Amino acid sequence: MLGPGGEKHGMKDEAICAECHQTVSREDIIRYGNSVICAACKPIFLQRLREGATLPTMETQFVFVGFWIRFWAGIIDATLWMIIAYPILIAVYGRGYLNTSGFIAGPVDLFVSWILPAICTVGFWMRKQATPGKMLVNARIVDAYTGERPSMAQFIVRYIMYFLAALPLGMGILWVAFDKKKQGWHDKLARTVVIRLTKRAS
Ligand SMILES: [Zn+2]
Repeated sequence: MLGPGGEKHGMKDEAICAECHQTVSREDIIRYGNSVICAACKPIFLQRLREGATLPTMETQFVFVGFWIRFWAGIIDATLWMIIAYPILIAVYGRGYLNTSGFIAGPVDLFVSWILPAICTVGFWMRKQATPGKMLVNARIVDAYTGERPSMAQFIVRYIMYFLAALPLGMGILWVAFDKKKQGWHDKLARTVVIRLTKRAS
């Protein structure tokens, strides 16, 4: 997960270009209003403005990722967690663990099922703006108003509020399917949206 120092530094300073939706180094971006534009896209962007195009908004510059793609990304993440966690949990609590109906079976369960997912998820969000599942479907979490990397506070709010959104029969999560900006309640409260990143051209 951790790359060499340079890579780590590079990722931290990446931004998503509102025009080509590729991740670009922060040193190569131009800001125009709320938009982040990479150097390669600047001429097209300015040309479009000269031709009378209105300033881009979050709605016009990004494609929001909808419910089903995010559902499958969630399945991928859950599967990854099960592959890692179940052998540990079964080793500690025995095969009976899979049949227990209790909320938390013990300290190891508390750590593996609750604390570890929180650390890993927020960690991935901070570094990649996505969990492995979201990365596979080219989805990235961005600030709903600037399109930039959300703050750690936003990610923490998003993580906690996800559980709140799931409580009323999953309604807050299902909201993604009907929302204009495809935000769940956790997105609304954290002021985030999930956008599609185009694959980097070779
Ligand atoms: Zn660009």
